[in-house]
Amino acid sequence: MAKKWVYLFTEGNAQMRDLLGGKGAGVAEMTRAGLPVPPGFTITTEACNAYYASGRQFPEGLWEQVLEALKVIERETGKRFGDPTNPLLVSVRSGAKFSMPGMMDTVLNLGLNDETVKGLIAQTGNERFAYDAYRRFIQMFGKIVLGIDPERFERRLEEKKRQVGAQADTDLTAEHLRDLVEEFKRIVEEETGRPFPSDPYEQLRLAIQAVFNSWMNKRAVDYRNFHKIPHDLGTAVNVQAMVFGNMGWDSGTGVAFTRNPLTGEKELYGEYLPNAQGEDVVAGIRTPKPIAALKEDMPEVYEQFKRYAEMLERHYRDMQDLEFTIERGKLYMLQTRSGKRSAAAAVKIAVDMVHEGLIDKAEALKRVEPEQIEQLLHPQIDPRAKVQVIARGLNASPGAATGKAVFDADRAEALARQGEKVILVRPETNPDDVHGMLVAQGILTARGGATSHAAVVARGLGKPCVAGCEALQIDLEKRQFTVDGIVVKEGDVISINGSTGEVILGEVPLIEPELSPELRELLSWADEVRQLQVWANADYPRDAAKAREYGAQGIGLCRTEHMFFEPDRLPLVRTMILAAAEATALDRAVADLEAALANPRPDQDPARLQQQLAEARRRREASEAWHAYHDSLRRLEVIQTEDFKGIFRVMDGLPVVIRLLDPPLHEFLPRYEDLLVEVTELRLKGDGAELAEKEKLLRAVAGMREANPMLGLRGCRLGILFPAIYEMQVRAIFRAAIAVQAEGKVVKPEIMIPLVGHINELRVAREQLERVAQAVQAEAGVTIPYKFGTMIEVPRAALTADEIAQAAEFFSFGTNDLTQTTFGISRDDAEGKFLLQYVERKILPQNPFQVLDRDGVGKLMRWAVEQGRQTRPDLEVGICGEHGGDPESIAFCHELGLNYVSASPYRVPVARLAAAQAALARPLVAHTA
Ligand code: ADP
Ligand code: MG
Ligand code: MG
Repeated sequence: MAKKWVYLFTEGNAQMRDLLGGKGAGVAEMTRAGLPVPPGFTITTEACNAYYASGRQFPEGLWEQVLEALKVIERETGKRFGDPTNPLLVSVRSGAKFSMPGMMDTVLNLGLNDETVKGLIAQTGNERFAYDAYRRFIQMFGKIVLGIDPERFERRLEEKKRQVGAQADTDLTAEHLRDLVEEFKRIVEEETGRPFPSDPYEQLRLAIQAVFNSWMNKRAVDYRNFHKIPHDLGTAVNVQAMVFGNMGWDSGTGVAFTRNPLTGEKELYGEYLPNAQGEDVVAGIRTPKPIAALKEDMPEVYEQFKRYAEMLERHYRDMQDLEFTIERGKLYMLQTRSGKRSAAAAVKIAVDMVHEGLIDKAEALKRVEPEQIEQLLHPQIDPRAKVQVIARGLNASPGAATGKAVFDADRAEALARQGEKVILVRPETNPDDVHGMLVAQGILTARGGATSHAAVVARGLGKPCVAGCEALQIDLEKRQFTVDGIVVKEGDVISINGSTGEVILGEVPLIEPELSPELRELLSWADEVRQLQVWANADYPRDAAKAREYGAQGIGLCRTEHMFFEPDRLPLVRTMILAAAEATALDRAVADLEAALANPRPDQDPARLQQQLAEARRRREASEAWHAYHDSLRRLEVIQTEDFKGIFRVMDGLPVVIRLLDPPLHEFLPRYEDLLVEVTELRLKGDGAELAEKEKLLRAVAGMREANPMLGLRGCRLGILFPAIYEMQVRAIFRAAIAVQAEGKVVKPEIMIPLVGHINELRVAREQLERVAQAVQAEAGVTIPYKFGTMIEVPRAALTADEIAQAAEFFSFGTNDLTQTTFGISRDDAEGKFLLQYVERKILPQNPFQVLDRDGVGKLMRWAVEQGRQTRPDLEVGICGEHGGDPESIAFCHELGLNYVSASPYRVPVARLAAAQAALARPLVAHTA
């Protein structure tokens, strides 16, 4: 016996979504509940999969089961398929497990031909209606099943309307429509070389096939890729007796949500069109009326519909998206499914439903996507607005922004000072552009990935950014960009949507973000269940304040180098860097001789050592570099102390992890290539004084160039080679801590030493810095509770975590670098070149810089947590890489038993929800916290 491929609506129910698809399960459930649903049957998703498995053939038994089920519909309706006197017409509708609105196809009025149309006239006494149904059918069938360009029919229809002077479709008479039917049939014959299939059974077979095929159309495939819906689910096919909303002005059709899908407000929200068939509502041919108009037009039908809507929502305990048709005053329900909704609506509906007793808190927490929360925190494009998208890039920093396109940072600043809103458009950005970025509404770049300077800075600032939009041809000289033949000049208004990567021409209406009372409530429920703490990455007091407002329980990463980039500090930092090597060598010579003198070897003559020491001190005193170095360090210390005070004040009572200087020093210097050009130009001009200055700088920069800066002199290596820098930073931390503690606040600094690979690096750095910490506290006669710890961001540190933990009181996984060093790829190079292809071609399941690679990087993390806690059971472990804000990665961190995740301030609420969802999915036995 063949498998059961076909289920009558009376045989299915809501639980059968896998097999019957969402639509099939929905109509079956409504049928069971006794709602007026036109009879029909569902062909299973298994049949669809079998169809594809056998090279697009109907599986054995399917057609026979279809014919049998059709007989049941005939019995129930008292009509017969293909009967010239009393014909049954059906719709053939797609419907997968997850609703994919508009992605697949549906054919209405199937079963019509030159004979049955007469029957339809006889049945209804309405010739106009019958020919309207017929021409719609040919049009839809032609487009969907036969693949004919729908424009051909549309143009013909428009011509007809012009010819006869009709305003709307409804102005066409029966005669006009009968002519159109003939013309449409001719179009089909021209296009396919064959007459329009008049046999209803042939029509049905082809339509079922077409719906199966639409599962794999490009739209549907793209949609599933985007929403991570598997491609092997298949679509079901629903064959259902037609009801007609176009039988006159006592008929109509509509769509309605049981709650407002934009705001979540509890109100019937939708549209309806009198005297129209289903597709007309969405197609925009005629402007539908708000659903409230139905209350006026047909009060009884409205009341009945409202009752069904409430009943269905209660039944499914979720907001429903309903379709209905009214045929000569009688209401039919055609669809119920959970409705798509905006982020704001998702939150409001979930929270309201808890208060209404429909769902519990855990269910509410599961119903909101963490990503939706982030959308709520950035200005967004009003979803009701129609916009013209001209290009797409990487969605590098969420939110939307509108402003005048400006092509350099100085112009941006100048215009912003005049009160203009600007979008900074650059091929890419670098620290010299920061002043422009700070004043821009958003940033758009043609090159660079998700960690490009533009992306990272924009996210840090909470500004929208679209990066790596390669389609833009930027002409900096002409101050314009071209894309697809469209030229955007400086001053032209554009918009960007950093949540989707879209670049839009002109202004868009924006909606302001807010933490709504509902969101606050939902997040408070999240806090009740989550086991992970949520900290934030924040470099400035205002970020820290934002983070705290959003519920951060600490700062997991305060990057001191960002402070170094500020325009008032950069000159000091440059001086410091250029003098570091010479000054450090001089300091070391003195220190070595001091040590030797304190404890001379037998072969050393103390008098001679004394002399040498005096000489070394003289040399040091005479060195310009040495003075410049220590002078800039002193001044930086004052500035950094103020920075840290600001953060400590804001974070009163909460821990603050401060990372000591990390990036390669040349990042603070002018680019070698730029300097070379300048020097060459100066040589040609023969400008002596400036030339000498620049040549000196060029030599210094050349001396510091590295082949692989990412793997070069950076992180703790810097602190070890140039100890005065880290010492200065630690002094600043403790001075700030002491000052803020004196103000009556509770300060908990945690000093993080970056890029450790070997325990000895940590030992050396920590010993030297502990001395400083002790000295500052002793000097003030105050103690500060503090910790020393390290970032785990190279594999060797993870592998030797048991040793590292001997000298570290905390670990923080720097998963950006840990991913780079584990894979051996540099992110900025990879994302622009091969990484996205890798993901597209499924060589990698995901971009490991967005979603933590559990199997590789994750294995190192697991090992490091275990080994580290074996050495030091109370080891505090967190994550501060970008993954700390990614819901899937957060779930993994929860499973590893980390103490906290640290995310950018705007992602703190996202992380709170994600951590709660992780805890609900897999509650952990309490771990050491
Ligand atoms: P989608 O999933 O794209 O909404 P549907 O299968 O729901 O596609 O159908 C498209 C339109 O046709 C809807 O407006 C629906 O209400 C209408 N429709 C579907 N089946 C019938 C039917 N048997 N009688 C009347 N209208 C129908
Ligand atoms: Mg529908
Ligand atoms: Mg790092």
